[in-house]
Amino acid sequence: MKLILFGMPGVGKGTQAKILAQKHGAVHISTGDMLRANIQNGTPLGTMAKGYMDKGELVPDNLIIAMIEEVLSSAKAKKGYVLDGFPRTVPQAESLETILWRANVPIDKAINIVVDEEEVVRRLSGRMTCPNCGAIYHKYNQPPKVENTCDSCGHVGLIQRNDDKEETVRHRLEVYHKNTEPVLQFYRNKGTIVDINGAKSVEEVTTAIEQVLQSARA
Ligand code: AMP
Repeated sequence: MKLILFGMPGVGKGTQAKILAQKHGAVHISTGDMLRANIQNGTPLGTMAKGYMDKGELVPDNLIIAMIEEVLSSAKAKKGYVLDGFPRTVPQAESLETILWRANVPIDKAINIVVDEEEVVRRLSGRMTCPNCGAIYHKYNQPPKVENTCDSCGHVGLIQRNDDKEETVRHRLEVYHKNTEPVLQFYRNKGTIVDINGAKSVEEVTTAIEQVLQSARA
């Protein structure tokens, strides 16, 4: 499985990427998670990225491309990968072409998960994340079994990401329209992208993505 997941912030890319990667033995490559891990570990990259992320701005292309090149060139990625949150700009998409060609791991399909914008704002502003393992919850739609405690790793103290505050979410959506929509057009021109309705249950969306991948192989 060599897949790119697209869609506005909050459409469920992270949730789907985790499920699909686990099911199909692929690496889940989330640039957002990688950046957050760098922040948590206090690396120079994390220090540079934090200011952009807290404001809902994109981290500069050169930092992101260097980070992604290392993972995609690794032996693990040869078995399969699910890209989540990358590429987000046309220069990133162009660099990705070169990286994949060099590493000889071309994508099977790009999937665009589509959800109404107001639903996205509602989803993100209620989103709670486990700072320890990255598991995602929603205050109302998908609360953890025990209040404020992660079901997956037992960590107590779920947090709201700084960039999930409503005002920042709205800014992230503007950034998405300006920078990432042209990337969709890039893949539409190549004929590798398929739109999927993301306003369904998690299981239904997973099945829809798997069906697209199966028909791509047939
Ligand atoms: P995400 O978890 O994918 O929503 O990403 C959170 C934040 O990390 C974004 O709002 C950006 O600030 C930064 N980020 C993640 N991926 C990228 C990327 N491919 N290019 C630039 N910035 C990114």
